[in-house]
Amino acid sequence: MIIVMSPAAQEAELNAVIERIRAAGLTEHVSRGTERTLVGAIGDERALSEQVFEQMPGVERAMHIVKPYKIVAREGHPSGTVVDIRGIKLGGNQIQVIAGPCSVETQEQMDLAAAGVHAAGCRLMRGGAFKPRTSPYAFQGLGVQGLELFQRAAREYKLPIVTELMDVRMLDTFLEHDVDVIQIGARNMQNFDLLKEVGRVNKPVILKRGLSATISELLMAAEYIAAGGNHNIILCERGIRTFETAYRNVLDITAIPVLKRETHLPVVIDPSHAGGKAWMVPALARAAVAAGADGLLIEMHPNPCEAWCDADQALTPKELTDLMGSLRLIAQAVGREL
Ligand code: PEP
Ligand code: MN
Repeated sequence: MIIVMSPAAQEAELNAVIERIRAAGLTEHVSRGTERTLVGAIGDERALSEQVFEQMPGVERAMHIVKPYKIVAREGHPSGTVVDIRGIKLGGNQIQVIAGPCSVETQEQMDLAAAGVHAAGCRLMRGGAFKPRTSPYAFQGLGVQGLELFQRAAREYKLPIVTELMDVRMLDTFLEHDVDVIQIGARNMQNFDLLKEVGRVNKPVILKRGLSATISELLMAAEYIAAGGNHNIILCERGIRTFETAYRNVLDITAIPVLKRETHLPVVIDPSHAGGKAWMVPALARAAVAAGADGLLIEMHPNPCEAWCDADQALTPKELTDLMGSLRLIAQAVGREL
């Protein structure tokens, strides 16, 4: 951390700053300029608070120089993390497309969806049994029964399942039902107690970016999971809220190169919740692969018009198959495989 003393700072005020740095177990480096004195705090500065120093007499400003996130930062871990999901690698050269319906509805719907996911060449399946809905009167998901229907359908094709955990009290149930990847939804990105709990288990986690979360907030949320010991984290950009109303959310493609630079964690893109319309999904998915995404999370329903949730944005099984064909070419063009 660098502490900038104000031009009128007294020697006693400088000494108080130095004492505070030493009390935190760090050492000081004082640099006296013609107008201002700067104090560098040397050591693990994450324990120091900028506000504490800025409240001290004679201090103009205090700023951290290292990133607030440590475990997830690329600087301490130059090679990218590859998350292993029952032998399927996410974060390596192969791009993974996780497809399936917004929500688990019936056994027949899930059986058809699993067949469509498998036929399209996708290796992982998504589906929500617990749904975060804006309205309390909207379909809330089938709950535990949904996990059972989902597993029955996915096992037929050996597809690992990705499903959202909304409530920490359901974590044991998720483990009992052998959920392969726990999804933390956009609305829970900063549910810190939930993040801490999934940080204690040994299951891959997809952490979705909050609708209004900055990149730094997303990375700090991931750090909560990592700090508990679980480093199998996959970040997901799913569209952010801006002034634009022509589509559901704005897919932040810029987040891909920025996240790839800032963190070693794999990055997947959800073009379905970003655009909110099925016809936008192929263009957004292709842009994401071109920009370096490690995977995609795509909504597909055997019969989108009948979907109980997010009907507008679901691809048909045929549309998913066609999309996979075009993504394969783009993956090759950027030196990846699908
Ligand atoms: C979902 O993927 O099912 C979902 C609800 O997405 P989000 O949390 O991004 O809105
Ligand atoms: Mn959905």
